[in-house]
Amino acid sequence: MALEGGCYCGALRYEAGGESMFKAQCHCRECCYITGGSPNVFMAMPAADFSYTKGSPKAFSRTDLENPVTREFCADCGTHIVTKTPNVPGAVMLKVGSLDDPSVYGTPQMAIFTCDKQSFQTVPEGVPEHERVPG
Ligand SMILES: [Zn+2]
Ligand SMILES: [Zn+2]
Repeated sequence: MALEGGCYCGALRYEAGGESMFKAQCHCRECCYITGGSPNVFMAMPAADFSYTKGSPKAFSRTDLENPVTREFCADCGTHIVTKTPNVPGAVMLKVGSLDDPSVYGTPQMAIFTCDKQSFQTVPEGVPEHERVPG
Protein backbone atom coordinates (compact mmCIF):
# COMPACT_ATOMS: atom_id res chain seq x y z
CA MET A 1 0.00 0.00 0.00
CA ALA A 2 1.39 3.39 -0.98
CA LEU A 3 2.18 5.87 1.74
CA GLU A 4 0.61 9.29 1.33
CA GLY A 5 1.57 12.66 2.62
CA GLY A 6 2.08 16.28 1.82
CA CYS A 7 3.27 19.63 3.09
CA TYR A 8 1.90 21.70 5.96
CA CYS A 9 -0.17 24.04 3.75
CA GLY A 10 -1.51 21.36 1.42
CA ALA A 11 -0.03 22.75 -1.82
CA LEU A 12 2.03 19.57 -2.23
CA ARG A 13 0.71 16.00 -2.03
CA TYR A 14 2.60 12.81 -2.79
CA GLU A 15 2.43 9.04 -2.94
CA ALA A 16 5.32 6.76 -2.03
CA GLY A 17 4.93 3.12 -3.08
CA GLY A 18 7.16 0.11 -2.57
CA GLU A 19 9.03 -0.95 0.53
CA SER A 20 11.29 1.28 2.57
CA MET A 21 14.96 0.47 1.89
CA PHE A 22 16.22 1.83 5.21
CA LYS A 23 15.16 4.18 7.97
CA ALA A 24 17.50 6.55 9.74
CA GLN A 25 17.86 9.80 11.56
CA CYS A 26 20.56 12.19 10.42
CA HIS A 27 22.45 14.53 12.73
CA CYS A 28 24.55 16.32 10.10
CA ARG A 29 24.96 20.08 10.27
CA GLU A 30 23.07 20.55 6.99
CA CYS A 31 20.01 18.65 8.22
CA CYS A 32 20.12 20.71 11.41
CA TYR A 33 19.34 23.81 9.34
CA ILE A 34 16.55 22.06 7.44
CA THR A 35 14.76 20.67 10.48
CA GLY A 36 15.26 23.68 12.71
CA GLY A 37 17.41 21.73 15.16
CA SER A 38 16.09 18.17 15.53
CA PRO A 39 17.63 15.17 13.83
CA ASN A 40 16.25 14.70 10.32
CA VAL A 41 14.12 11.53 10.49
CA PHE A 42 13.67 9.89 7.11
CA MET A 43 13.05 6.67 5.24
CA ALA A 44 14.58 5.73 1.90
CA MET A 45 11.83 4.87 -0.59
CA PRO A 46 12.20 3.68 -4.21
CA ALA A 47 12.46 6.78 -6.44
CA ALA A 48 10.53 5.03 -9.22
CA ASP A 49 7.49 4.65 -6.96
CA PHE A 50 7.50 8.19 -5.58
CA SER A 51 5.42 10.90 -7.24
CA TYR A 52 3.77 14.20 -6.50
CA THR A 53 0.00 13.98 -6.90
CA LYS A 54 -0.55 17.70 -6.31
CA GLY A 55 1.74 20.67 -6.92
CA SER A 56 5.45 20.79 -7.74
CA PRO A 57 8.17 21.30 -5.20
CA LYS A 58 10.91 23.86 -5.24
CA ALA A 59 14.31 22.16 -5.44
CA PHE A 60 17.58 23.36 -3.97
CA SER A 61 21.12 22.08 -4.37
CA ARG A 62 24.28 23.81 -3.27
CA THR A 63 26.45 25.08 -6.12
CA ASP A 64 29.68 25.04 -4.10
CA LEU A 65 29.78 21.23 -3.72
CA GLU A 66 30.85 18.68 -6.30
CA ASN A 67 28.07 16.13 -5.60
CA PRO A 68 25.36 18.06 -3.81
CA VAL A 69 22.11 16.53 -2.64
CA THR A 70 18.88 18.04 -3.94
CA ARG A 71 16.32 19.00 -1.33
CA GLU A 72 12.69 19.31 -2.43
CA PHE A 73 10.27 21.41 -0.40
CA CYS A 74 7.08 23.45 -0.60
CA ALA A 75 7.73 26.93 -1.96
CA ASP A 76 4.76 28.28 0.00
CA CYS A 77 5.10 26.82 3.51
CA GLY A 78 8.68 25.51 3.44
CA THR A 79 7.93 21.91 4.48
CA HIS A 80 10.69 19.59 3.30
CA ILE A 81 9.46 16.48 1.53
CA VAL A 82 12.42 14.54 0.12
CA THR A 83 16.15 14.67 -0.40
CA LYS A 84 17.72 13.08 -3.48
CA THR A 85 21.35 12.11 -3.13
CA PRO A 86 23.67 11.19 -6.02
CA ASN A 87 25.13 8.43 -3.80
CA VAL A 88 21.78 6.58 -3.74
CA PRO A 89 20.23 7.40 -7.14
CA GLY A 90 17.41 4.83 -6.90
CA ALA A 91 15.91 6.27 -3.73
CA VAL A 92 14.32 9.37 -2.29
CA MET A 93 14.91 10.18 1.37
CA LEU A 94 11.37 10.85 2.51
CA LYS A 95 10.96 13.07 5.57
CA VAL A 96 8.57 11.25 7.83
CA GLY A 97 7.05 14.38 9.34
CA SER A 98 5.31 14.94 5.99
CA LEU A 99 3.44 11.61 6.10
CA ASP A 100 -0.31 11.77 6.75
CA ASP A 101 0.36 9.24 9.50
CA PRO A 102 3.95 9.64 10.73
CA SER A 103 3.42 6.81 13.24
CA VAL A 104 3.81 4.23 10.44
CA TYR A 105 7.52 5.03 10.59
CA GLY A 106 8.16 3.25 13.85
CA THR A 107 11.81 3.57 14.89
CA PRO A 108 14.91 4.45 12.87
CA GLN A 109 17.39 1.61 12.26
CA MET A 110 20.38 3.85 12.77
CA ALA A 111 21.56 7.34 13.61
CA ILE A 112 24.02 8.79 11.08
CA PHE A 113 26.50 11.66 11.07
CA THR A 114 26.63 11.70 14.84
CA CYS A 115 29.98 13.50 14.36
CA ASP A 116 27.78 16.62 14.11
CA LYS A 117 25.32 15.63 16.83
CA GLN A 118 24.30 18.46 19.15
CA SER A 119 23.93 17.96 22.91
CA PHE A 120 20.18 18.60 22.68
CA GLN A 121 19.68 15.88 20.03
CA THR A 122 18.91 12.40 21.27
CA VAL A 123 19.10 8.91 19.78
CA PRO A 124 16.46 6.35 20.84
CA GLU A 125 17.82 3.64 23.12
CA GLY A 126 19.23 0.66 21.25
CA VAL A 127 19.56 2.48 17.90
CA PRO A 128 23.14 2.11 16.54
CA GLU A 129 25.06 5.35 16.07
CA HIS A 130 27.42 5.98 13.16
CA GLU A 131 29.84 8.89 13.02
CA ARG A 132 29.13 9.16 9.31
CA VAL A 133 27.38 6.49 7.22
CA PRO A 134 27.94 2.73 7.61
CA GLY A 135 29.61 0.85 4.79
ZN1 LIG B 1 3.09 23.85 1.62
ZN1 LIG C 1 21.89 15.03 7.27
